[in-house]
Amino acid sequence: SLEAETGQATGWKQTGSLSIATNPDRLTHIRRQASLSQAFGIGAEEISVSNAAEKWPLMRSDDLIGAVYSPSDGRVSPSDICAALIKGAKSQGLKVFEDTPVTGIRTENGRVAAVQTAQGEISCETVVNCAGIWGRSIATMVGAVAPLHACEHFYLLTELMDSVTAPLPTLSDHDGHLYLRDEGGGLLIGCFEPQGKALDIETLPEDFAFDLLPEDWDHIEPILANAMHRIPELEQTGVKMLLNGPESFTPDDRFLLGESPELRGFFLGCGMCSVGIATGGGAGRALAEWIIDGEPSMDLWPVDIRRFVPAQNTLRTLRERSPETLALHYAVSFPGRQHQTARNLRLSPLHSRLENAGAEFAERMGWERPRWFNPENKPTAPELSFEKPGWHSLHAEEHRAAREAVVLFDQSTFGKLLVQGRDAESVLQRLCANDISKADRRVVYTAMLNKHGGYESDLTLMRLDADSFLLVTGTGQPVRDKDWIRRNLNPDEFVTVTDVTGSYAVISIAGPNSRKLLSRVSLDDFSNYGFPYYTHRTIEVGPAMVRAARL
Ligand SMILES: Cc1cc2nc3c(=O)[nH]c(=O)nc-3n(C[C@H](O)[C@H](O)[C@H](O)COP(=O)(O)OP(=O)(O)OC[C@H]3O[C@@H](n4cnc5c(N)ncnc54)[C@H](O)[C@@H]3O)c2cc1C
Repeated sequence: SLEAETGQATGWKQTGSLSIATNPDRLTHIRRQASLSQAFGIGAEEISVSNAAEKWPLMRSDDLIGAVYSPSDGRVSPSDICAALIKGAKSQGLKVFEDTPVTGIRTENGRVAAVQTAQGEISCETVVNCAGIWGRSIATMVGAVAPLHACEHFYLLTELMDSVTAPLPTLSDHDGHLYLRDEGGGLLIGCFEPQGKALDIETLPEDFAFDLLPEDWDHIEPILANAMHRIPELEQTGVKMLLNGPESFTPDDRFLLGESPELRGFFLGCGMCSVGIATGGGAGRALAEWIIDGEPSMDLWPVDIRRFVPAQNTLRTLRERSPETLALHYAVSFPGRQHQTARNLRLSPLHSRLENAGAEFAERMGWERPRWFNPENKPTAPELSFEKPGWHSLHAEEHRAAREAVVLFDQSTFGKLLVQGRDAESVLQRLCANDISKADRRVVYTAMLNKHGGYESDLTLMRLDADSFLLVTGTGQPVRDKDWIRRNLNPDEFVTVTDVTGSYAVISIAGPNSRKLLSRVSLDDFSNYGFPYYTHRTIEVGPAMVRAARL
C-alpha cells in the first residue's frame, strides 16, 4: 500500500458503503452498480432492508425497498493521501515547487517545450494539467479544449451525537440527494442538490487555495429536510459547520483525461466531478501509463478529452450546463437521458424542418439529432425507463417504414474529414483495415485499427481525386479520427486533415422504395447497372449537385 511504501498514513478506513433505494428504478440502478462492481471483482451485493437497517441503526428504513452493501469500500484523508503521494514521488527524485504559479506554456513545433512560471521556465516534454477548477484557464493558455466549470459543493457536520458510536458505512441515499457518514462523533452529510450553483472563478481572490466559499443556508434547506427524514434524530441535533467548496464539473459528469488533440505533450487530468479523491488513484495510474506508453492500458474513451469539440467549451455553455451536471450526479442512470441545458449548440440545416415534422431531439457532441417523430403529439411517457419506454411505438413506425417503404434520415451530424496531400493514399492504406486503393469510384467501408488490432474508428471513405479523400465517420468521432491520423504520420509524409463536418449535410434514403423516391427528384440512373452497390458519384437532385454514395 501507499502507506507501507512511504510511511505516511493515508487515513484509509475500510468502513464499507451502503446504497439504499426507495423506488423500483433506484433499486434497478443500485443492482446494476452491484453487478458492475462484481464484474470488476469488487464484492458489492444486494442485502435485505432489515439487514441495511442493522448496519445503519440511525436510519429510517420503513420507506426502503432494497439496499446494496459494498464491504470493501472505505474512506481516506485527502490531505494525508496527498502528503503520502508527494513523499513517495519525492523519494523517486520528484521535485515539488509550491507557491509557483504557472503563467504560460511554451510550445515548439506543435509540442510542449516548457512550463513558464513566476519563478522562471522549466523545460519539459510533457505537461499534465491537473489544475482542478482552473484547468480550463490553463488549457486556454495553449488554445486547448478543457470543458469544465466550477460549482459550489456542500456538506455539513453535525454536533456530537451519542448514537454515533462505531464507524458506519458511507450511506448513499441518492433519492434524497444525500450521502452520509460518521465524522468526529457526529455525522457528515453531503449532497448533490437538484438545483446546482455555478461558480464564476473570476470572482475568487487571486490567492484562493485551500479555502471555502460563503455558506448558503437557503440553498441547502430542502436537502436538510431530506436528511431529517432519513435520520430523524437530526431534528434534535445542531449543525456544527456548513462547508461550501468549489469543484469542477464537465458537461457529461465524466472527467477529462488524455493528451490534448490540440498540442502534443499536453495532457489533461482534471474536471474530476467531485469524485477526485475516490477515483484519483486510478485516473493517475491511467494517465501515467498513457504518457509512458503513448496509449492507455484499457479503453478509456468515456473520459477521453477527444469526445468534446470547442463549441462545448465556451464559458456560456459550461456555466449553463455545470449546475445540471451536479444535479444529475445522483440521478437514476436511465438509458437515453438527455440534458435540458446548453442545447442547440450545433444544428443541421434541416433542423427546423425536422422540428416542424414533430422531431424530439437528442444531443451528441453538441449536435441535435432526432430521436423520434411525434407529429400527432401521442403520449410518450415514460420517456425515461429501464423497461419499454412510451415512445417505443413511434420508433417502431419508423423501423416499419424503412423495412416496407422508404425513409429519409438526416445524418448531417456525421463527422467528415478531408484527407489531402501527396501521401494521403499511402497513409490511409496503412491506417485502414480495408484496401483503400479501390476507393476510386467505390465507397470503402473500413475500420481504422491500432497496433493491437482494436478499433480506433469505423468509417466510410471516398476518393475525390488523386490525393484527396473524404472520410465520413461517426458523429462522436471526428476529433479522435483526425488526431489518430495526424499522430500516425511519419515526419516525411505530407498530408493535411481538415474537419469539414459542418460544411456538408448528409441525407440517407433507405428502404425498398428508395429508387422510386429518388427518381421523383432526380433524372440520374439509380439502377443496379447505372449506380452499382458501394459506388459514389455526383448526381443532380432538383437544381442541386450532390455527391451520392450507394451503401
Ligand atoms: C465539499 C466537497 C466535498 C467533496 N467530497 C468528495 C468525496 O467525498 N469524495 C471524492 O472523491 N471527492 C470529493 N470531492 C471532490 C475532490 O475534492 C476533488 O475532485 C479533488 O480534490 C480534485 O482534485 P484536483 O487535483 O483535480 O484539483 P485540486 O485539488 O483543486 O488541485 C488543483 C491545484 O492546481 C493548482 N493550480 C491552479 N492553477 C494553477 C496555476 N496557474 N499554477 C500552479 N498551480 C495552479 C491549485 O492551486 C490546486 O492546488 C469533494 C469536493 C468538495 C468541494
